This record gives sequence, C-alpha cells and structure tokens, in this order.
Amino acid sequence: MTSCSHDWERQDRPLAVAFTIDSWQGATDAIVRCAGCGAYALLRLLHWSGRNLSTRIFAVSGLNNPAVTVFLRNMKSDYCDLERHRAEVEALTSTAGPVSRVVVTRMPEMHVTASLEPSGIGAFSIASWRSRPPREDDPLWQGVLAANP
Ligand SMILES: [Zn+2]
Repeated sequence: MTSCSHDWERQDRPLAVAFTIDSWQGATDAIVRCAGCGAYALLRLLHWSGRNLSTRIFAVSGLNNPAVTVFLRNMKSDYCDLERHRAEVEALTSTAGPVSRVVVTRMPEMHVTASLEPSGIGAFSIASWRSRPPREDDPLWQGVLAANP
C-alpha cells in the first residue's frame, strides 16, 4: 500500500498522460501516471464544456501497474496492427478497478481543478463517450461544474 495522495486525488496538479487511448481536441480516454508514486490510472471522459471543450470531467479507475507496463511495451512493438491495438486496449481497460474519483480538469495540461468522490455525484455512465456524446447542457454535470468552479 502506498500513502501517496495521487495527482488525481488532489487539486491544482496536471495529469501526466502515459498513453492516449482516444482523443477529440485533446485526450478523451487515457492512461495517466501519478508523478508522486508512479501508479497508473484510466481516465474516461464523462463530460466536456466551454471554449475548445477545455473543461473536461473524467472518471478515474485504478490500473494494475505490471499490466500497464506490458501494455505500453506491446503498444510500442505492435503500433501498426490496428486490430491487435484495439484488442490490447480492451484487455487492459477490462482490468480497471471501479471508479475511484471523478476529476474536473482544464485542457490542454489536464490540470485538476476538482477531485470528487463518485458517490457524491449521482448516477452516471462510463460507457464510451463515442456511444453517448457529452451534452454541454447535461444538468448533472452542469451542477457539478457550478459547485466546483
Ligand atoms: Zn501517487
């Protein structure tokens, strides 16, 4: 166990992206690494808003470090095989833990402006954002942003 307070559990830290899984004007799904202890986490886009969609809310789930190390090595050697790439991403993301935090970030540095307990937010889906494009006027996330300016 580590006593590290990870970058995604604090405010005013940028998140360091180790691998971008998907993006739209910046990362939408990514693997980030804590600068303090080296732990990896999976970020999945929940909501975006504002100019250039620069305010983004992500679900954070813990990842198993050895699995990420293998994944990153495989991504380097198999980068041209798209089918393999997709299978590797699915295999890794299926090992992610439950959502442990919800972070409000500002792009492009992915600067954490708020880190929240998911239980305090209400029901939300972590299905791929491409299957449920975020709506700027979503009342759930508008409320979160109003409470965490
Ligand atoms: Zn840490």
